Amino acid sequence: CGIVGFIGKHQAAPILLDSLSKLEYRGYDSAGLAVRNGDADIEVVKAKGRLKVLAEKTNDGKAMQGTCGIGHTRWATHGEPSETNAHPHHSDDGNVVAVHNGIIENYQELRDKLAKKGYEFYSQTDTEVAVKLIDYYYKKYEGTPVDAINHAMIRIRGSYALAVMFKEYPEEIYVARKDSPMILATANGESYVASDVPAILSYARNVYYIGNLEIGRLRAGEITFYNLDGDEIEKEPKEIKWDA
Ligand code: GLU
Repeated sequence: CGIVGFIGKHQAAPILLDSLSKLEYRGYDSAGLAVRNGDADIEVVKAKGRLKVLAEKTNDGKAMQGTCGIGHTRWATHGEPSETNAHPHHSDDGNVVAVHNGIIENYQELRDKLAKKGYEFYSQTDTEVAVKLIDYYYKKYEGTPVDAINHAMIRIRGSYALAVMFKEYPEEIYVARKDSPMILATANGESYVASDVPAILSYARNVYYIGNLEIGRLRAGEITFYNLDGDEIEKEPKEIKWDA
């Protein structure tokens, strides 16, 4: 339902919690964060219920160290509201960690395909299938995160906005979307992603709109876009003039 992401100089978790709070009006049943300190393992904390519960669990984010992270408020479509089904979801070895808005329509078919390849599933979500599909292609083709996400996009039917972290690519966040809103922004050498403008209004004003079947790579203060062929595409930011 709500997606946020941050990479920059500041601690990520307090910014992610603040940004998620700006999306609370949309409704949700659970929430979660993934934060990373340099190239350390990606730390995930999730909670059923209000954002307040997640804030308490993480001491307002201060218990999670790291300047790169993603966050989510979930409105369950596949699987009951629970801490296990809350996002972020991860591959078994923690290689891929992601949050997702939308619905993967062919998730059962993809889940069966991955199960045959030895993947096991801990949640009932369509999102976990998308995460493990990206992990599958990442390992199968030994390519870049952009290649892996592109392969997954070709196979996934449905709607999605995805924000993804790869264990082997610290200080980077990858995003992709189809028929589900997502915006990106940079300000003061830091980068943001969100499913809706209010989440980032108090941090950044120049936003990039990512098109259907496009990928974005966020580094601190720098965002690069790719098409389905993996070719880089140019985008100009647009200034948002709303009041925060
Ligand atoms: N379909 C996903 C799930 O049920 C994402 C729902 C959402 O957009 O929050 O977990």
